[in-house]
Amino acid sequence: MQSRILIVYTGGTIGMIEDPVTRSLRPFDFSHLMDNVPKVKMLDYKIDNIQFAPPIDSSDMNPAHWQDIARHIADNYKRYDGFVVLHGTDTMAYTASALSFMLGGLAKPVIITGSQLPIGEVRTDGEENLITALQIAAATDSDGKPMVREVAILFENYLWRGDRSTKRSADNFNAFKSNNYPALAKIGLGIHFEQDVLARPDTDTPLTLRTNLDTAVMAIDLFPGLNETTLRHMLATPGIKGAVIRTYGAGNGPTADWFVRALRQAVDSGIVLVNVTQCVNGSVHSNRYVAGDILSATGVISGHDITFEAAITKLMFLFGLGLSPQEVKEAFARPLAGEMTVK
Ligand code: ASP
Repeated sequence: MQSRILIVYTGGTIGMIEDPVTRSLRPFDFSHLMDNVPKVKMLDYKIDNIQFAPPIDSSDMNPAHWQDIARHIADNYKRYDGFVVLHGTDTMAYTASALSFMLGGLAKPVIITGSQLPIGEVRTDGEENLITALQIAAATDSDGKPMVREVAILFENYLWRGDRSTKRSADNFNAFKSNNYPALAKIGLGIHFEQDVLARPDTDTPLTLRTNLDTAVMAIDLFPGLNETTLRHMLATPGIKGAVIRTYGAGNGPTADWFVRALRQAVDSGIVLVNVTQCVNGSVHSNRYVAGDILSATGVISGHDITFEAAITKLMFLFGLGLSPQEVKEAFARPLAGEMTVK
């Protein structure tokens, strides 16, 4: 049977054209994009599309857009075998993470892709990315069930779990990487799926759409020289409910009294603080060093090997469910969509 794929085109470089006056790139509509990829017609799929009006540079993405994308997928979930989301690379990993939490019980492919060069350019990576994303969205296993049953990012040679991914290059065609989880598929002459690392949810589970997100969250990036005034100012942000603290190495922070006191007071006042390492690879090990031990003793919870993108969107999602700070802490500690490894 012919595979049915729904493309949700949000914008990004893949569909951009050069403004004749300013020479900068601006998003363009879907017909422009498809006109530049005649090869799509060679795929024997039934492809429909939904387009953002207007398409956007992903630097303008916000939770309302994530809700739109998630609703389009949920509304059409039964009608299609797979979904391809065309998206700018800048915030793609945030969108992938948010969608992975919002689409509970997902058991069909949601493949997000884009490109570094606009699709109209001679050396574009967009054509290949689009075609490969469509093929992955249509791929089935030996039982005829979807090969990919999760939100994933396809870029150049790899398919990565969406909520494990990070944009790692502004120039390279292989722009994404999941630093703490293996590739779900490698793309060369063929598409080689890594069966043992793909999520295997039950295909009979119905999709549960939960779109409410609470943006009362923030990031605190540690650096030598961060002072008490700045830290207290950040933690006193009106209405703030949760913060991701980007710590050193295995989850370490300063041992100074003022630092520990400021965090403890924040935790005691009900702010959920999550420890995520600044290292691109590896995990928080809260009790490897005194400097990490002290952090966890203040009530900061471990983000294990989660990415920043997944941590911040997971906080938005959990607070969006209306959970209390204690409930958020408990729920955060468990993987929701394969976003972290808890040892
Ligand atoms: N600024 C663009 C965007 O994220 C970059 C890209 O698509 O690669 O929409």
